Amino acid sequence: MIPRLTFLGGVGTVTGSKYLLEVEGLRVLVDCGLFQGFKQLRLRNWAPLPVDPESIDVVVLTHAHLDHSGYLPLLVKKGFSGPVLTTQSTRDLCGLLLPDSGYLQEKDAEYANRHGFSKHHPALPLYTAEDALVSLTYFSPVAFRSWQRISERVSIRFQPAGHILGAAIVEVHCDDRRIVFSGDLGRPGSATMVDPTPIKQADYLLVESTYGNRRHEEQDPQDELEEIINRTAARGGTILIPSFAVGRAQSLLYHLERLKAAKRIVDLPVFLDSPMAIHASEIFCGDGGEHKLTLRQRRQACGVAEYVREVEDSKALDQDSMPKIIISASGMATGGRVLHHLKHYARDPKNTILFTGFQAGGTRGASMTEGAESVKIHGGYVPVRAEVVNLQMLSAHADADQIMDWLKNFEKPPKTTFITHGEPAAADALRHRIEEELDWTCQVPDYRDQVELA
Ligand SMILES: [Zn+2]
Repeated sequence: MIPRLTFLGGVGTVTGSKYLLEVEGLRVLVDCGLFQGFKQLRLRNWAPLPVDPESIDVVVLTHAHLDHSGYLPLLVKKGFSGPVLTTQSTRDLCGLLLPDSGYLQEKDAEYANRHGFSKHHPALPLYTAEDALVSLTYFSPVAFRSWQRISERVSIRFQPAGHILGAAIVEVHCDDRRIVFSGDLGRPGSATMVDPTPIKQADYLLVESTYGNRRHEEQDPQDELEEIINRTAARGGTILIPSFAVGRAQSLLYHLERLKAAKRIVDLPVFLDSPMAIHASEIFCGDGGEHKLTLRQRRQACGVAEYVREVEDSKALDQDSMPKIIISASGMATGGRVLHHLKHYARDPKNTILFTGFQAGGTRGASMTEGAESVKIHGGYVPVRAEVVNLQMLSAHADADQIMDWLKNFEKPPKTTFITHGEPAAADALRHRIEEELDWTCQVPDYRDQVELA
């Protein structure tokens, strides 16, 4: 029987990644992500999965981000009971992210019930923190670089992707075919992450295209941070950094520590004010994982900040008028402790609100970086008079040129390259480039498309 691939997410969007590979009755689901963002996408999380979860034998996760892992608790709740293969660090990070996701789903449902705006009575969470904890018991961590047999005819291997801690490119070998899933590709030359592993061989390739139509700025993030921090400090202001808790917060700590060590920035106190970012930093400073930095460098980086664990201490930061640097979540200011800091700091032109990456449409981060004069927080309008900057070069994704460079490692063209994990314009731009520059056969699949991998 010819292996068959079905695209159940991560096509036409960067969210909901789910690719079902069927070989001789074996069903492998590569990634199990939540749809996020626009409502018509999020509704797909509630529709029954087009394949019976009970019939799936194995789940393989490329990395811990929720758009790749966040559907797993529901898959388990609906009957999946096989192993979930990941790297150790992905397992550790999912241990943080999945229960937190369940907790937020519960809060949303409670909120909808209190305000009575849900069509469903009572509104139910997609899954709970408890469901997430149950799903974690199915995880089975696998080492990078070694082949893992999952059936008589199918083996898989994880290779470092350099995107976030634990992130992997997945190679699947079945009979004489090699199928490669790029996962999310990191940026070569990053200060904190390893480069994406060059892969030489694939009969079929799925490649991400988040930035398939864009090129990152080339400035050194430390140069930019230095300027922003010093000019804010010269005004006597505070730098508030809404940051993604996993990955981005740790890169920021590294850059801040280096700048302080070189005495390039004013010696302001740094606070890491997010329980999730603190836990992620503790994992980052642990022994495991595939790191570019040594254990000593990582511990030094995390040592630059004071960890703020309690909510009262977080609120106390705003009472003290001393200039400081606060790193807090969430990264797009959609929730979390950063909101009460925004209420306090956004109104004063002395301060800087420093965003650190892609801001999805409809978020406070997007409206502030587009120059909004006020934002709504907890039901009230907060004037935005602080300087607002977005440091996009801290992105954890390869840009179009870097994806092209990674593709050039393949010794011969795959039979088909599927362009996934991108908004339609980005995916199509990358398809065009691969066809033009490499002369490969490409396809931009649609949701629920099925292809035979002959
Ligand atoms: Zn990711």
